[in-house]
Amino acid sequence: MKIHKLLLFITSISLVFVIAACGKEDVKAANDNNDKIQAIATYSIIYDIVKNVGGNRVEVHTLAPVGSNPHEYDPLPKDVQLTTDADVVFYNGLNLEGGNSWFEKLLLTAGKAGIEAPVFRLSEGVKPKYLTSKGKESEEDPHAWLDVRNGIKYAENVKKGLIKVDPEHTDVYEKNAKEYILKLEKLHQEAVNRFSEIPKEQRLLITSEGAFKYFCEAYGFEAAYIWEINAENQGSPDQVKAVVDFIRSKKSPVLFVETSLDPRSMEMVSNETGVPIFGKIFTDSIGKPGEDGDTYIKMMEWNINIILSGLTEK
Ligand SMILES: [Zn+2]
Repeated sequence: MKIHKLLLFITSISLVFVIAACGKEDVKAANDNNDKIQAIATYSIIYDIVKNVGGNRVEVHTLAPVGSNPHEYDPLPKDVQLTTDADVVFYNGLNLEGGNSWFEKLLLTAGKAGIEAPVFRLSEGVKPKYLTSKGKESEEDPHAWLDVRNGIKYAENVKKGLIKVDPEHTDVYEKNAKEYILKLEKLHQEAVNRFSEIPKEQRLLITSEGAFKYFCEAYGFEAAYIWEINAENQGSPDQVKAVVDFIRSKKSPVLFVETSLDPRSMEMVSNETGVPIFGKIFTDSIGKPGEDGDTYIKMMEWNINIILSGLTEK
């Protein structure tokens, strides 16, 4: 009987310890979670770059969701809350988030509008290109990330921002950024090498939006488009006529359509010219998780492959 009681006592004590230990683990897990840097990215491409440089120190939320057009976005109440609570905010700049001033208004509402606010422009250090449409010549073109060398600058700027808000983990960010940038350098070289297989006069890229200025300069292409930048009044009859004339004069073999845009304007151009849409191309968004192009590196690899096949397959 005595032994029985003793056993029971020991069992209860152990149980208490087990429960206490479990409790501690839970609390520790919760703390680790809260301890993470909460970051906001304005759209999915920089969301992915922040994830790579932040690693498991950072939790990232993208405002414009994967697959959407980040030029104009209406933040949801959840976005306002998360931006208010965030430790750091990353945006592209170069006029990307300028449409209907959505980002500026969001920062004001979220109390992050001052110059001291932890808000970082990832295109810092990029030499801007400008729009060429009449009356828009003073506006910057935002699509710098389509030149991977600029993607490397973005990664450096993410690193600087994270070190500023979380200096204790400088070594983590340095290490992650170094590894990620090595991959980006390889990707840029791969793009240069593989595009050199396409004869120069065949390097012609036709898309809905004129998102390829930085890309064209980096990889030696000529680009044409229906409209220069995503905004209202895209795909007007005049715009369609201009690109149709261009396609006929250049005898372009294929057209491409962006994953984040309505394909109907490009379908109209395809019907008009008889030139097929060869495939989708990523410009303003990565792919959905688990689908094609679901990281910045994968979307660029997808673009390299599809452009190469489209322009060289007979
Ligand atoms: Zn765009």
